[in-house]
Amino acid sequence: MAQDDKKTMVYPGEAIASSEEMLPGEGTFDTGENICSYYAGDLDIDTKNFSARVNAKGSTPVVLKEGDVVIGEIRMVKSSMAVVELVKKAGEKRRITGETEATLRVANAAEQYVPELTKAYKKRDVVRAVVVSKAPSLQISTKGAALGCLNALCTKCGKTLEKKEKELWCADCERSETRKTANDYGEGALDRTNI
Ligand SMILES: [Zn+2]
Repeated sequence: MAQDDKKTMVYPGEAIASSEEMLPGEGTFDTGENICSYYAGDLDIDTKNFSARVNAKGSTPVVLKEGDVVIGEIRMVKSSMAVVELVKKAGEKRRITGETEATLRVANAAEQYVPELTKAYKKRDVVRAVVVSKAPSLQISTKGAALGCLNALCTKCGKTLEKKEKELWCADCERSETRKTANDYGEGALDRTNI
């Protein structure tokens, strides 16, 4: 439980504080019992906010924070929430370290009222979102014109849907589907960060 020295070296998985006395800061995770380090690096205790963080040695891994623009894939969608696997932070080549499974609640789907999230997203959709909360769980939002679906597949045949006015269209099936799309749907701009 080293917390007196700012230059204390810690190792991946090492318990650096108890969950009761500290909050997990950047580079750490909470096992429920302990705050543990993701990295080998210098322990940095913020005594004002009671949080512990670890500054990784070497190349800095990508740790998400609130306000980050992220790209994710819808894994599961229900009427009230979706589970989204975050695959990258926009503008970053490196992988995200730590928690990558985020929750998108129906209230965070769009600026206008969405009665059921299953009408806005389908499994396998690629979405651009913003991180709105990190603790106790990763939460994302797709409210805003630049946020939402970037790529969607036809739920009948699996081909990529094309944007056609306010709907998405499958030319093969000659049918349309609806999504909450980003305003640059289909352009493949995964690294766009100006939202
Ligand atoms: Zn189709």
